[in-house]
Formats: sequence, C-alpha cells, structure tokens
Amino acid sequence: MNTPASTLAASVDYTIQLIEKGAQDGATCTPDLVQAPWNFDGGAPSYGPGASMGDVIPVNTPRQGQLPQVYRDASPAELHARIMRAKQMLGDKLVILGHFYQRDEVIQYADYVGDSFQLANAAKARQDAEAIVFCGVHFMAETADLLSREDQAVILPNLAAGCSMADMANIDQVEECWEQLMELYGKEVDEDGRAQVIPVTYMNSSAALKGFCGRNGGIVCTSSNAETVLEWAFERGKRVLFFPDQHLGRNTAKAMGVPLSRMPMWNPNRPLGGNTADEVLDAQVLLWHGFCSVHKRFTVAQIEQARADYPDVRVIVHPECPMPVVDAADEYGSTDYITKAIAAAPAGSTFAIGTEINLVQRLAAEYPQHTIFCLDSVVCPCSTMYRIHPGYMAWVLDGLLDGQVINQITVSDDVAVPARVALERMLAAKPPVAGGGGAVDGAGAGAGAGAAADVTNRG
Ligand code: SF4
Repeated sequence: MNTPASTLAASVDYTIQLIEKGAQDGATCTPDLVQAPWNFDGGAPSYGPGASMGDVIPVNTPRQGQLPQVYRDASPAELHARIMRAKQMLGDKLVILGHFYQRDEVIQYADYVGDSFQLANAAKARQDAEAIVFCGVHFMAETADLLSREDQAVILPNLAAGCSMADMANIDQVEECWEQLMELYGKEVDEDGRAQVIPVTYMNSSAALKGFCGRNGGIVCTSSNAETVLEWAFERGKRVLFFPDQHLGRNTAKAMGVPLSRMPMWNPNRPLGGNTADEVLDAQVLLWHGFCSVHKRFTVAQIEQARADYPDVRVIVHPECPMPVVDAADEYGSTDYITKAIAAAPAGSTFAIGTEINLVQRLAAEYPQHTIFCLDSVVCPCSTMYRIHPGYMAWVLDGLLDGQVINQITVSDDVAVPARVALERMLAAKPPVAGGGGAVDGAGAGAGAGAAADVTNRG
C-alpha cells in the first residue's frame, strides 16, 4: 500500500515548497530546506537543514560521498520509476523500512512504518528478505543489523543520516565517565546485593553504547518502556547512569518519584561531569548532557497559545521534550502512544502535538475527522532524517539490481554480542506491578509508559 496522494500533497516537502513560493502562509526554520540533501553532504560542518542543523557533526561520524550525477539530475518522476522498478524486480528479497519522522516522499515506498525498535523487529520478521533498506538514521540501521540474520544486508541510503542526539554520547566519553564513577563508588555491591550503578542507554544511541551496557550489567530502553527499564535497573543497582537523552531520563525518573535534586547532569567535558563528589555520591539518576534538537524546540508558551486558540485542545508531547513542556502538556508518550491516542479519539477532537513535523502532518492527513497540528508553527523537520531523499533510495536500489550492496551498515561481533545482551534484557524486563514496591518511592507513571508497540505493515 502506498501513501495516498492526499497525504503526499500535504507532505512537509510540499508545504515547504508552497511557503517558499508564497502560495501558503507559514514559516520554515531555514530557507535551506528547499535544497537537495547532497548539497550538504561530504563535508558540511552541521547536519543540514532542519531542527538539528545547529549541532556540529562529530569528526568520526560517517560522511556520505557525492551521489552520482544521474540521480542528482533526475526528476521526481524518474526517481519514482527507478524505485518502483527495483521494488518490483527485487520482490520479497527487499524490504524497505520507514521511520515515523521520514518525509512522505520516501515513506510512500516503505513496506513497514514505525519507530526504530518496531522497524528493527519488522526486519527480523521478514525472513525472505536479503536486503533491508532502512530509511531512518544510523543508529536505527545498526539496531536492525543487530536483530537481523547474518546473511541479511542492512542499507542506509545516505550515510550522513546520523542522529545528533545519539552523537552526543560516544563510547570514549562513556568509558571515561564510567572510570570516574568506579573510582568514586567502588565496585562492591551494597548490603542488598545491588550494584553501585547500572548503565541505561536509550535506543537512540550507537551500537557501541548498547554493547557497553551489555558488558556492564546494563540495559537499553525505548520511549515506550523507559519506566519499566528504570524499575528493572533500580532492582539491580543503587543508581542509574542514563544516556544520551537527559529529558527522557528526567521526565521518566521524575514520574517515578525521583527528586530533581538527586538527578545531576553529567557533562562529559568536565571532571566528574561538572559535579562535586558529594553530588555524584548522592545521585539516584545521573543524566547525560544530551538532547534531541527536534524536541528541544517545544515550549510552554506554545502550549499556552494552543490552549488560547483551542480551549478543548488535547496537548500530547514526546518525552524527549524538556520537563516544563511535559509538565504543561495533558499527556506525554512515545510516537506509538501519540498515534494510538489519535486513532482512538472521538471524531472532532483537537490535538496539539509536540513531536517531529513529518509525523504530525501525516497524522493530520490520515485523520481528517480531527484537527491535528504541531505545537511549533515553524516547519522544521529532523534534519538528519531529512538527508534520506528519493535520489539516494534510487541509487542504493539500482545498486542491488546490479548485485552491489551500497552503504551497508555492519556491527562487528565484539560490539554486537554484548549489545544484543542489553537488548534482550530490555525485552525480558516486565512492567512494574501496580502497587508493587520498587527502589523508587512514589508517583505514578507518565501516560506513555509501558505502551506496547505495533508496527504498520504496508505490504
Ligand atoms: S528526531 Fe531527534 S532523536 Fe530522532 S533521529 Fe532526529 S535528532 Fe535523533
């Protein structure tokens, strides 16, 4: 099933074109959005146009070479014909995965649409597929490689599609942090047999960090199961080191009753993360100094404006948003939670959504019985995801037709084995029993915690 024409006509790319031409009111975060991504690949110091363009790409992040001229010159119709031809000829040997935040011009070709973990699992379910083309960002393709068979090739159409948040914590920084923590805490378990600290990494991190967690008694979490995972960690450790997203860590731990005073931030560029030894010793959750540039854009003022414009509005934001925004919203939850809440609402509902614009625009087109808008009125997509363009897709698919695997993402065994351990711990972690005592006292979960995840099969 392809994206309906009405959805494509309401896509973010199309909206940007209209605003640029003056045919529609509105603002974009940068005029660079109208340019093709290859104008930014191969050496640009930032991630390109969109919400994370201000973030600097670390030097060791993969760079994309120049896309062959034929694909840069091709019209949208020519690229469409190439992609459809390859899909037809490759048949079941090919599976295309599209992340919720991907542009509609790419999503229309996806066999499955979902969040990063849903998509990695979808890849696993397609036993016949020899090539998995992941239209997301680098860490997502790595996760798909971790979960897929050895003889399946995972392909990222543009190697420069990284994730600015994932790039805010690298393995050297985390190893260095761990060394300092071990020096301060020691390695002995406490009187209850708990470790001094348990590392927890968000799915939005490199495979190297997932491997670090696997090697050090830690675990992975998603935005759907962060509370369940923190509960798991507190059963096994006195404290948690949570990376790379400070906001998901803070919002989740706060909802579980951890006081803010016991959640110091760890800045990897300062000794002891910029804290005193006493602050680190007293910590219950150490929050890494990382964030998502897309979700950082949402503000309490935007929520107040939405409420003034639509008194009945239901405000739902993603837990990667800053804490004051999450506190001011009616609900918070993962992309899966947001999608299900909209699907279940009575016709005529109004939603102000705090997450990436491509998903919000697509939901607005798919549920015309509701009024759905993005809290941020400025059109500003995830710049890293935006680097996947139909031109790159056509290029890697033509490569497959020629027997060439272009841009394969492979995680080496020394990283993959412990990373799978951390992922398996996550899958085995059970949601907390209502009323049951964990290591953290108090308050209930956020609205999105523990939500089960479904992927959309568009085949
Ligand atoms: S939306 Fe944020 S966390 Fe997600 S891929 Fe983009 S930069 Fe990374």
